[in-house]
Amino acid sequence: MLTELRRDSWTIANTGARNLLTVLSQDIESNIGSYDRVLLSVVTKLEDPAFLSLEPRLQQSFVFGATLIKPYFTSLLVLDKDGNVIRDAGGVPPRVDNFSDRSYFQAHANDKSVGLFISTPFQRRLTGNDEVLGLSRRINAPDGTFAGVVVGTLRLQYFRDLFEQAELKSHDSINLFSQTGTLLMRSPYLEDQIGRDLSATPNVRRFIASSSGSFSGVAAVDGVTRVYNFVRIGNLPLIVNIALSHDDIFEAWRTQALWIGSVLTLLCAMTMMLAFVVRREFVKRALAEAVTRQSEAQYRLLAENATDLIIRLDGDLVRRYVSPASHAMLGLDPSEMVGHRTRGIIHPDDWPTVEQMVAEARVTGKPAEAIYRLQHKSGAYVWVEGRYSFVADDEGFIVVLRDISTRKSAELKLAAAHAELAKRANTDGLTGLANRRRFDEAFEAEHAKAVDQSKSLSLLLIDVDRFKLFNDTYGHQAGDECLRRVAKAIEACIRPSDLCARYGGEEIVVLLPGSDDAAAYRVGERIRMAVESLDIPHMENASAGKRVTISIGCATQEPGSDEPALALIAQADRRLYEAKRTGRNRVLSAFSMPTASEPPKLENEPVRLEAVETFLSSAQEKGSSSLDLIARSAAELLDAPIGFVSLVGKDELTLIGRHGLGISTVPRDIAYCSHTIAGSEPMVVYDALSDTRFKENPLAQGDEGLRFYAGAPLVDPETGETVGAVCVSDYKPRDNVTASERDILKDLSKLVIDELR
Ligand code: GH3
Ligand code: MG
Ligand code: MG
Repeated sequence: MLTELRRDSWTIANTGARNLLTVLSQDIESNIGSYDRVLLSVVTKLEDPAFLSLEPRLQQSFVFGATLIKPYFTSLLVLDKDGNVIRDAGGVPPRVDNFSDRSYFQAHANDKSVGLFISTPFQRRLTGNDEVLGLSRRINAPDGTFAGVVVGTLRLQYFRDLFEQAELKSHDSINLFSQTGTLLMRSPYLEDQIGRDLSATPNVRRFIASSSGSFSGVAAVDGVTRVYNFVRIGNLPLIVNIALSHDDIFEAWRTQALWIGSVLTLLCAMTMMLAFVVRREFVKRALAEAVTRQSEAQYRLLAENATDLIIRLDGDLVRRYVSPASHAMLGLDPSEMVGHRTRGIIHPDDWPTVEQMVAEARVTGKPAEAIYRLQHKSGAYVWVEGRYSFVADDEGFIVVLRDISTRKSAELKLAAAHAELAKRANTDGLTGLANRRRFDEAFEAEHAKAVDQSKSLSLLLIDVDRFKLFNDTYGHQAGDECLRRVAKAIEACIRPSDLCARYGGEEIVVLLPGSDDAAAYRVGERIRMAVESLDIPHMENASAGKRVTISIGCATQEPGSDEPALALIAQADRRLYEAKRTGRNRVLSAFSMPTASEPPKLENEPVRLEAVETFLSSAQEKGSSSLDLIARSAAELLDAPIGFVSLVGKDELTLIGRHGLGISTVPRDIAYCSHTIAGSEPMVVYDALSDTRFKENPLAQGDEGLRFYAGAPLVDPETGETVGAVCVSDYKPRDNVTASERDILKDLSKLVIDELR
């Protein structure tokens, strides 16, 4: 732009200069031309012979009359061939003067073809200080010889005024040179320079060399660099030039350039400042970005290399990022998982767990964990531990999943092992039933529950009949096998809520929560029949059809009762014993206990009564002292106040040996021994008042009532019939009779038999 402006300034200045040159040269040409025409007309007249014949005064007005004397054309003289003034436009007679020494005179005298001659400036001789140029033309005689000169003067003031009309800048100038290189006029005016011959200077030489042109050069006059536009004025020997100082041409441009430059510099400075600030920001940002990128790269590295699967979920639980661990964990490429909902591969059974965890994490804003299954690409499920961390920004989650399949399978194996161990710890190895330990626990719990909830609880104590003999006959292994089959048969008869356990040896216990005594009896009877119908041969169990049978004692805890658990077992045990004693292969419960006080009928009563008679007479022979001793021994050994030996006759029983008792006979239908003789084992009545058979028995009533009774039957070795019993009795009930106490009674009964035979 500045170059453009500079060129414009240059062009405008030069164009202006050339225009001015044209105007100036035209003005000069026309003015000098019209003056030349005056000179020519004078010459023409003077060379006309007719004119010379005119009267002198007429000649004067004729020659100069029409001459337009302009302000700058100050004189018009005609000189003869010797240089004398012969005519003067200023008046007649002409002034007396000689100008033969003047250059123009010399020029015309010597050369016929000079034409219009313009002299160098000189002082007008007449008026003094007025500098003028001489304009002259030669006058020829009729024969062509030199006849004189017509000369007028042009005041340099003309040029000065003309040039000063042009408005020039301080260093610009307008110069008028003659063809010979003399400075004729200069604006600004420099008096001492006017008239100087500058033809030797390079600039002036160029003016002289061509008719017009333009160039730059250093002025000889003042050393200023200028551009010169010059032109030759018409055919005149004059050159006018306009010299414009470079400084002035470009002054405006320079100011503009300075302004623009300053503004640009300012803008540049501001831009640089801005750039600097921006750069600093960029550097800062780049630095921050580098740090961010670095930490991001680190996090990415962590995420990409973690064996845990890292997932980013949005608020709709759609996966937005999935780490490459998905390959190893689920056989899926992250791209297969991104954009899908998380629910897709969660095991349907586990979805509620996950949903709950998500809801929990949303509410608390704290990480939540859950263990669930995800479907592997292969279709199998993988156990994972998922940790959901809530991201408040988008209400999504960062999920970290850990494959815990190995742990889970180990846990499952461990759990299975535990279960197996627990089962083993609770199971009887031989029968596969629950063991004693398990039973004890369950019984305690069920008993407490029954007391708490005031419900019935029944217990069946089962014992295989004559099992010792089974082992002896068939071997222990067969015995084991038999036990297994019996156990299975029992198990098949109970409800899942009931518990069947091996109580010890060949005894099995069944716990029946919620069952009353009637129900318990029914279950017991069902079991008894089931075992019987197994039809396992048992030669030695002759009284029960030579097959394996069981006896069952039932006990029931009634609702509202708070008897201890052990009492229930003791009760069942007593009834089992009673079942054994009264023939085996039977179920005895409160429900099935005979309620009638009448003693049981015996099969071979006549044979037995006969044997009784034999024993009775033998006893009368021997006397009672030894039998009394046996009775006393029984009482003492069993720590009872009463001991006696009885023989049970048709209607009454006779006490053949007594201790602590006054009576000698008792009616058979109320005697405890009437019951004892129905079995081969000792009979025990722990508390007559709570025994259905005896609670209304007169013997049991009142303070002196016999509440406790234990008696071993007297068996006649000859007939095998039971003739009587060795007994102890007490006014207080008892809750226990040991096996050895029974054995004592049995031994004493053998002693009695030995004594009476
Ligand atoms: P009863 O019960 O009818 O009065 O006569 P019993 O012969 O069955 O008498 P008891 O119940 O006292 O006998 C227990 C016998 O059971 C002793 C033992 O030989 C046998 N027994 C106990 N446990 C096992 C076992 O695990 N396997 C086998 N084969 N026999 C056992
Ligand atoms: Mg037994
Ligand atoms: Mg048995």
